[in-house]
Amino acid sequence: MAKLDETLTMLKDLTDAKGIPGNEKEAREVMKKYIESYADEISTDGLGSLIAKKVGNEDGPKIMVAGHLDEVGFMVTQIDNKGFIRFQTVGGWWSQVMLAQRVTIVTKKGDITGVIGSKPPHVLSPEARKKPYEIKDMFIDIGASSKEEAMEWGVLPGDMVVPYFEFTVMNNEKMLLAKAWDNRIGCAIAIDVLKNLKNEEHPNIVYGVGNVQEEVGLRGAKTAAMKIQPDIGFGVDVGIAGDTPGITEKEALSKMGEGPQIILYDASMVSHKGLRDLVVGVAEELNIPYQFDAIPGGGTDAGSIHLTANGVPSLAITIATRYIHSHAAMLHRDDYENTVKLITEVIKRLDRETVDKITFE
Ligand SMILES: [Zn+2]
Repeated sequence: MAKLDETLTMLKDLTDAKGIPGNEKEAREVMKKYIESYADEISTDGLGSLIAKKVGNEDGPKIMVAGHLDEVGFMVTQIDNKGFIRFQTVGGWWSQVMLAQRVTIVTKKGDITGVIGSKPPHVLSPEARKKPYEIKDMFIDIGASSKEEAMEWGVLPGDMVVPYFEFTVMNNEKMLLAKAWDNRIGCAIAIDVLKNLKNEEHPNIVYGVGNVQEEVGLRGAKTAAMKIQPDIGFGVDVGIAGDTPGITEKEALSKMGEGPQIILYDASMVSHKGLRDLVVGVAEELNIPYQFDAIPGGGTDAGSIHLTANGVPSLAITIATRYIHSHAAMLHRDDYENTVKLITEVIKRLDRETVDKITFE
């Protein structure tokens, strides 16, 4: 693989970090390392969301740009007498993407490699082979021969289990394959928006945030937004790419590489019309590509942010991504860079007067 540039190195560090909901420390440390030089102040809320504050105008409106630190994964619940690990899924998993995948168990004595196992098809009846194998029948094999041995290696109930995958730049170097794009790409966007604003005037206070516990119900965004009390909220996350075989335009319209997705509607929020119109206007003005989308079967942290205190005009902006909630997801670098550009330009225009004006549209 070619040598990674500065941006790719950050993306690799962010996606390599291990952090299921409630266990975001490593991801938080990586995000902190990259964002702190662009922030005036770093803090966390009581659940561990990272909040990087950058002041443009002390008296201006507060703008929250939030990705989430957590990724979907598993948790050790029990170790059986033969040393096999029973587990709980944490975040949404589809059984078909789990079998025979490599995982890392993070223990107090260090990382342990495992693989998600099942009975082999050779012993299944012809009928059973046609059905998806159920998650409750899967286990994690770490090569231990007894419960005592597994515990000797440091494995304990409650330990997080994280998908393992090598960050990979594809032959088309714009295409990036990694675990945890959901939602370290959102964290990267928050970092780069602050970076872009470093030497720019902006008539507001910007908060680049990495929320915890999104994958279990948009939880960290609630407490982080309560702490910040923003005037405007952006949830940045992955969205669905509709450009793979078999998927129809009716199911998902977006294509990788064709710009940030402006989410009109999802299960957690109706996008704020005034804010949406402003964002689209900026994209048109600057010829930044964008696509509209709706995700009736999912939500983003904006769903929690917009219900904070008296209500916060909010919008979800997402990156069309293939194979989310699996070990290997793919996205397009141009979409990431255009999202950073779009949000940066919008923030430069969000003075008090503009925020007041769009709030009631
Ligand atoms: Zn997700």
